[in-house]
Amino acid sequence: MLSVVIPAYNEEGTVAEAARRTASVLRLARIPYELIFVDDGSSDGTWDAVKAASRENPRVRGLSFSRNFGKEAAILAGLEAARGECCAVMDCDLQHPPEKLPEMFRLWQEGWELVNGVKTERGRESGFHRLAVRIFNRILGGATGTDMSRASDFKLMDRQVAQVLLSLPERRTFFRALAPWTGFRETELEYRVEERKTGKSHWSFFSLARYAAAGIVGSTAAPLQIVTVLGCGVLLLALVLGVVTLANEILGRPVPGERGIVLLLLALGGCLMLSMGLMGYYLGRVFAEVQRRPRYLVARSCGPEEEK
Ligand code: UDP
Ligand code: MG
Repeated sequence: MLSVVIPAYNEEGTVAEAARRTASVLRLARIPYELIFVDDGSSDGTWDAVKAASRENPRVRGLSFSRNFGKEAAILAGLEAARGECCAVMDCDLQHPPEKLPEMFRLWQEGWELVNGVKTERGRESGFHRLAVRIFNRILGGATGTDMSRASDFKLMDRQVAQVLLSLPERRTFFRALAPWTGFRETELEYRVEERKTGKSHWSFFSLARYAAAGIVGSTAAPLQIVTVLGCGVLLLALVLGVVTLANEILGRPVPGERGIVLLLLALGGCLMLSMGLMGYYLGRVFAEVQRRPRYLVARSCGPEEEK
């Protein structure tokens, strides 16, 4: 059986169509399936839509979080609830075409343990956004050793891979990078990102930046080396400046005035504070991890023979 996990946050307008379209594609392909909608603490009628879809089709199940825990948590909750030998993760807004699922499923049957959906092209984005995304993908790609530039959360995986992801002890996960990190036999399948059906993207520039920072901090400690490099640079600068000043003093030439020194001190203070901020960010992450709070809280569930 194929379990399709569909995180949904304020998606009242898309749940019904996502359920119908995915179900009809899988029914046509004769793939036994279940759809698991995870309502990520939506404030609109998403949960009612999920319940309605579940009444309409007994293969639709639903979980509802007590509040918004984020897409990563929703993915993990869905995988935890999944009963299939094969699990897929797909967006609710139909930007990940369900028509690709049968093809992904066939690849799994051929023995691939992880099928990564990759975007043939990126959506419309501004130049600055594109640059930020490129830097982010470069850092993350370096950390995970995989090409992240076309990576997405549209994936299909063997039970084994899902089990590994679920067994990871960390609270803050980054699914897109973690799935390839498991190292199981993986392949790619291209898809075209469709336009969002209704509603709007939940990402603002700042939330995207936060997400990117969390992804990087969760995958690599390399940015911490920036502090070391910065320290070496400043030390070298101080050394050169010291020698030059001493030489000028001896030769009786003018030495840098007070203003120059104040500016230098300010720059140094800035570097120090930035470095502390960077270290603090990692420390905050460690703090969140040692707190060991649950990743999510399921408040309600629906569907046939619901055991949980
Ligand atoms: N989503 C979620 N929790 C959140 C934000 C988003 O479960 O806190 C879901 C959302 O309902 C959708 C998917 O994650 O199914 C992708 O979200 P969105 O379409 O906003 O992202 P984009 O496609 O713009 O990257
Ligand atoms: Mg979307």
